[in-house]
Amino acid sequence: SQRAMKILVTGGAGFIGSAVIRHILENTDDSVVNLDKLTYAGNLESLEGVAGNEHYLFEQVDICDREELVRVFAIHQPDAVMHLAAESHVDRSIDGPATFVETNIVGTSTILQVAQKYWSALPEERRECFRFHHVSTDEVYGDLADPEEFFTEETSYAPSSPYSASKAASDHLVRAWQRTYGFPTIITNCSNNYGPYQFPEKLIPLMILNALEGKALPIYGNGQQIRDWLHVEDHARALLLVLRQGKIGETYNIGGHNEKSNLEVVHTLCDVLQEMVPGEEGSSYRDLISHVADRPGHDLRYAIDAGKIERELGWRPQETFESGIRKTVQWYLDNKGWWSRVLDGSYNRQRLGVRA
Ligand code: NAD
Repeated sequence: SQRAMKILVTGGAGFIGSAVIRHILENTDDSVVNLDKLTYAGNLESLEGVAGNEHYLFEQVDICDREELVRVFAIHQPDAVMHLAAESHVDRSIDGPATFVETNIVGTSTILQVAQKYWSALPEERRECFRFHHVSTDEVYGDLADPEEFFTEETSYAPSSPYSASKAASDHLVRAWQRTYGFPTIITNCSNNYGPYQFPEKLIPLMILNALEGKALPIYGNGQQIRDWLHVEDHARALLLVLRQGKIGETYNIGGHNEKSNLEVVHTLCDVLQEMVPGEEGSSYRDLISHVADRPGHDLRYAIDAGKIERELGWRPQETFESGIRKTVQWYLDNKGWWSRVLDGSYNRQRLGVRA
């Protein structure tokens, strides 16, 4: 089953998508077509290391654009799809839900229709190997009140935010395509990711960059909301393993056994920074913490039971929270060029007319 594949990755210019592409090109003979609209979250500078790779191609396409999708499938003839393109930031979904419905629901249904037509016309041998891997979130399960409880693949859906509701809808569409058309799909639901190249609106990079600039570290409410954190490279490894060895029609939860309250996460970041970039004598990054009004509908606790992927596919995270956080802080210290171009908006120039 280790035959080289051509994989169509959607959302490959984003945080997780770019980690997946780097992982595939560094560790396999597979080739990648990166299909991405390049919204504010898409940044080709995250893929500079692979830009000249002969196994890599970029297509600037919106997943809602049916004709463009038909063209891309026809030209590139992928053996598999890893579907990551989405609007991904909960706060943005509260302020402007329409693009979440458009991309996450309409876009997913559009690529499902195009991919299923393409798949059904493949010669039998290629049709049998094809799979559509939909990358989703643990937020579709809502939140957990009982501290002993974990999300399993059987937990009922109860999304809270426009973001998680739109991802839940996309998961349902994928299952419907499997059940109704026999279209070969796999779904993974993962906990919160962190690591290099994450857009600095998300908790961990936001806190690192604010702390370095001496700005306030805003924490929603009391900061007791619990999230399960996974290093993005552990997620990327899990995704490729599921694509290659997961069972069609199945769902796999992916998580890091790292349940931390938001306040604990920020304390850890402050302490690691204190060690790596000590400020003036007596100054403490923790003094920058400021509590702000809680996010409406904020989920209290997420926790993943990743037992199925561990048992059936032998996956285990390699990073602990402590090792992963240290590496991540170090990465932001070493890669000021990347994040300063994101903060001043100059990375956006990449978006104009890029087509490789
Ligand atoms: P991201 O916001 O960093 O990247 C999303 C990418 O999708 C960007 O490159 C963007 O340009 C592209 N995109 C957006 N709309 C598009 C459209 N209409 N057509 C084509 N491309 C489009 O997101 P991320 O954090 O890398 O998340 C990737 C996927 O993983 C998402 O589906 C998300 O729901 C899921 N996920 C994320 C996390 C997390 O912690 N970040 C956890 C679990 C699951």
